[in-house]
Amino acid sequence: MSSSPVIIIGAGLSGLTTAYRLQKAAVPFLVLEARDRMGGRILTVRNETGTPIEMGATWLGKKHTAINALLAELGIGITEQLMGKQAIYEALSTSPPQLVQLPPNNDPSYRIVGTSTALIDALMKQIPLANIRLQQVVKGIEKTDDGFLVHTQHEVLTAAAIVSTLPPRLLMQTIKCTPTWPEPLQTIANQTHTWMGESIKVGFSYSTPFWRAKGLSGTLFSNVGPVGEMYDHSDDGQGYYALKGFLNGVYHALTKAERCELVLQQLRKYYGEQADQYTTYEEGVWRQEPYTFTDYDQSLLPHQNNGHAIFRQPFFGGHFFIGGAETASEFPGYMDGAVRRGEEIAAAIIAQR
Ligand SMILES: Cc1cc2nc3c(=O)[nH]c(=O)nc-3n(C[C@H](O)[C@H](O)[C@H](O)COP(=O)(O)OP(=O)(O)OC[C@H]3O[C@@H](n4cnc5c(N)ncnc54)[C@H](O)[C@@H]3O)c2cc1C
Repeated sequence: MSSSPVIIIGAGLSGLTTAYRLQKAAVPFLVLEARDRMGGRILTVRNETGTPIEMGATWLGKKHTAINALLAELGIGITEQLMGKQAIYEALSTSPPQLVQLPPNNDPSYRIVGTSTALIDALMKQIPLANIRLQQVVKGIEKTDDGFLVHTQHEVLTAAAIVSTLPPRLLMQTIKCTPTWPEPLQTIANQTHTWMGESIKVGFSYSTPFWRAKGLSGTLFSNVGPVGEMYDHSDDGQGYYALKGFLNGVYHALTKAERCELVLQQLRKYYGEQADQYTTYEEGVWRQEPYTFTDYDQSLLPHQNNGHAIFRQPFFGGHFFIGGAETASEFPGYMDGAVRRGEEIAAAIIAQR
């Protein structure tokens, strides 16, 4: 057995799940994270009012058994997403918005109590800080006779095994592999959609949930846009009130102020001038995040090649694992997939010892 650690590239949900399991099994590991924060595509921003707004992953369902089990193990609850009984619905730009009755939902969405980042924080508490290095951008990996060399912008580290948790296309495009990545992995990975990589999230915090006083739930669905869907994102218990939704990704090239005004123009149609009485505006433009997104050569379908079996094949003698949400066999792209694949890889590494 090599004395070098397992190197996990990426401190998102998948990487931290693997790290948590390796820590419990006393397998030495090191997590290298490019950003100056953990969480990856889980990001809760707290503005000056303290209102938390999810810029990344938010919802899960009861069917997502892997993440539900992990949350239960860590003592974190879930709470049903408020949808209300009615929603604003805009079918066409030529007809006015309507109020529609929402049917009973047999498969409701849930949010993580204390925000999605509560899960990242809980995992971090279980992992010694010395085992996680931030602002370490992995640039290359090299197979050697008895393991791997991992090149970051600062140093070269040895590893007994490597777990990549980058979205597969990002891995191919940004980390040089010596010898080169095998075919057809390269082809499949390069054509694997990075889930939500083109999305823009927008959120306004308010001092009061004024929409409720108008008898509105805050839920909106629009074919007209630019916001396609929006929800009440309040935490009543904490006195935080917010509306949060998805802005059409084509607006990534605008400025923040321009995007804010675009969304307000839409909200004024439903809520009048009260929409302008927001305390803060937050947005997450994931396309501009180099450690999540890299442009495609040609358009891909949502979820294209997510969950492809090739990612779960053994590479470099079974010591290089291609992980991350997009590589899970079930619910690929989702938080559940990230946890599922993180658990699976940890179990495989522990079994090799
Ligand atoms: C806007 C948005 C909304 C979403 N909504 C939902 C939702 O409601 N429900 C749901 O289930 N899922 C949702 N998702 C998907 C969910 O966020 C992901 O499934 C999950 O967070 C992925 O975790 P991961 O660890 O696999 O990948 P990531 O979180 O992407 O982690 C990969 C990590 O690798 C790091 N990294 C990248 N390059 C390098 C490098 N060269 N060297 C070192 N580190 C590197 C990154 O910084 C990152 O921390 C959403 C995602 C987005 C963006």
